[in-house]
Parts: sequence; structure tokens; C-alpha cells
Amino acid sequence: MAKRIYLDNAATTKVRPEVIDTMVEVLQENYGNPSSTLYSIGKDAKEILENSRHIVADFIGADDKEIYFTACGTESDNWALKGAAFAKMNKGKHIITSKIEHHAILHTCKYLKKFGFETTFVDVDENGVVDVEQLKNSIRPDTILISIMYANNEMGSIQPIKEIAEIAREQNILFHVDAVQALGAVKLDVKALDIDMMSFSAHKLHGPKGIGALYMKKGVRIDNFIHGGAQENKKRAGTESLHNIAGFAKACEINKYEFDKKNNHLKYMRDLLIKELQEKIEDCVLNGHATNRLPNNVNMTFKFIEGESILLWLDMAGVCASTGSACSSGSLSASHVLLAMGVNDEAAHGSIRFTVGEETTEEDIHYVVNEMKIVVEKLRLMSPLYNRH
Ligand SMILES: *Cc1c(COP(=O)(O)O)cnc(C)c1O
Repeated sequence: MAKRIYLDNAATTKVRPEVIDTMVEVLQENYGNPSSTLYSIGKDAKEILENSRHIVADFIGADDKEIYFTACGTESDNWALKGAAFAKMNKGKHIITSKIEHHAILHTCKYLKKFGFETTFVDVDENGVVDVEQLKNSIRPDTILISIMYANNEMGSIQPIKEIAEIAREQNILFHVDAVQALGAVKLDVKALDIDMMSFSAHKLHGPKGIGALYMKKGVRIDNFIHGGAQENKKRAGTESLHNIAGFAKACEINKYEFDKKNNHLKYMRDLLIKELQEKIEDCVLNGHATNRLPNNVNMTFKFIEGESILLWLDMAGVCASTGSACSSGSLSASHVLLAMGVNDEAAHGSIRFTVGEETTEEDIHYVVNEMKIVVEKLRLMSPLYNRH
């Protein structure tokens, strides 16, 4: 097989073989509907569903009843925002979020504008960390919801979630956290943090695509998003995707067991990649903080050249990386996250995101750095920006 080094683990991850085994077994043996509990295959399906819920809940310190399975992280984000907005609209129509959220949040806020909701997008500093003071000052009597991501998907910055949770609690405002990138990378304890709602997705931690979850603290009442049957405690209709749910739970179980080993490995590879790129290539800058970032994330600007051209070369060399989020690649606009951090348009266009994985080796890192050195030099020779400099 041709060489392939996958350094785009923020976009998605390779499904673990144990997860696939679990899913295949459920597909083959447990085809019952978890709502049909009058016979044994339905009961068995229900048992798998509830065991899976327990494993996911336990992984983030929640009670089983506080976990609702959804179709993806995007659905969880949509549900939290639209559900809270429509449930609280009599109290107010103001939402606070940040400029660096995932499009699942940003575009949902944009949609809610049609219904008269107004959103304040709080700034971040040069390290991609939300300005908590500005967030606090943005609160108004009609603010009904604050939504801030736990960790950014493009440059990995980790947000002061505990501090923001305290502010939200003090002001009696619902607080939602998009923790899709944090699950498996940061130890999460929803009880200790006192969060109202948190979004998750399985495919970012070696689980299957098309399955997510929303944590909703006991007592939090928001509108339903998907209407229909009585599944998920009457809050999220639709026959449960049992094989996906069992696969999600298996991925959490493995991650819990391997947590320290895996994250130490990621950090080691991350830091090695940063160090080698900076040593071997001139005029490259790490975007964001050196250590207050996700264990797998390296986001670098290579001055005077275009990120897209770098990616084409890397692809020919068998390396998968990205210029930003998977959702915005294809559009040639610069990353909204880097721009919000104050990186100028030109530098933002020359940025590459590498997200290492549990399969990444030192040999992979050396190979990638060597390819980067070659392509950066080649492209700079052709770059009018570089020749002027
Ligand atoms: C991937 C991602 C999502 C979307 O999750 P899907 O399951 O792919 O819909 C939402 N937020 C963040 C921060 C993400 O990284």
C-alpha cells in the first residue's frame, strides 16, 4: 500500500478495531428495537442501549439519565441552542458565544436571528482564549444562553470553562459547552464544572461517524429538536442507532482505560513536530499557546506561501493535514479562528493544521518535517511575497 500518514485527527479519527467488532456484533445479533421490550431480542437491545448510556455517562461524570444520544455533534449543538432559545424566549432573546466556535454553533446563531434572537460574539486573545471580562460585560437582562467551546478544533486552545460556568451560574443563565474536541483529550467532569449542557461526537475519539450525545443536567428544560416517538426519555425521537451507540460506548471505554498513555503519546508527538518544524524551517510561527492547547494540535503559519499548495504537495507525499476545519476547506476564505486571534489574512492563508494521533510515530514526524522543508522551500522560490522580503 502507498504511504499514508494521517495527521488530521481533528477532522475525524480511525475507528478502533474493537469498536468495529462491537458494532458488527450488535448489527448481526441485536437487531431488536429497544422500544419493543415485550420479547427478548427487544429487551436485549434495550439492555445494550442502557449499558452504553451508562458507560458514556460515567466517562464524563454524569448520571445515566442526563445523556441523550443524537445523530452527531452538530445535532447536539443545534438542539442545545435552538432548544434553549425557543424554551426561554419569553425571558429574553439574547445569546452569547465566541468568535471561534464551530460552524455548528455560528450558523445556528445566524439562523436564530430570523426569529429575533440576537447573538454577541465575544473576542479571543492572540492565543485563541475567550476574553472572559468581555463575556461578563456582554451579559444583559435578556441573556438566556451562553455557549462556549471547551477546546477549539482549529488551533486547539482550551477555554476557561470553569470560570465561565461560575459567571453563568451567578447570573442564572444556561451554559452550553461544545466539548466535541475535548472528549478523550481532557478529563471531563460535568458535575464538578457545573455545566448545563455539553455536546459530544463519537468519531473524534475513534468511534463511528453519525453518533453524538447531548449531556443535559437534571432539571434543565429545553424544547425538543427532533419530534416523534418516545425514545430517549421523550426528548429525542427516532429509533436509536444501536450499533453506533454501542460503538460510541466502546470508544469511551477504551479511551478511559488508555487515557494517560494516549495523551502522553500525543503530547510527545505534538511537541516533537513543533520543535522540528521550528528548527528546520525558517519563518514559521506556531499559532496559539505552546502548551495550553489540545494534546494533538499543531497549527503553524509558513510565511509567504499558501496553505492549499502545501496540502497538495503533502497529499502526493502521502500525508493528510488540513488548512483549518474540514467544514471550511473547499471554501478558500481564511480561517475565522485565526483571523479572530489577530493573525493577518496573508498569514492565515499560509497556515497548516496537523493533528497527530495514537498511531503517529517519531518516524512519521521526521518524514513529514522533511517533506515540509522541501515544499516550503520550493513554494517560496516561486512566491512573489518571499522574493520581495
Ligand atoms: C467535529 C466537531 C463538531 C461536529 O461534530 P459532527 O459529529 O461531525 O457533526 C462540532 N464541534 C466541534 C468543536 C467539532 O470539532
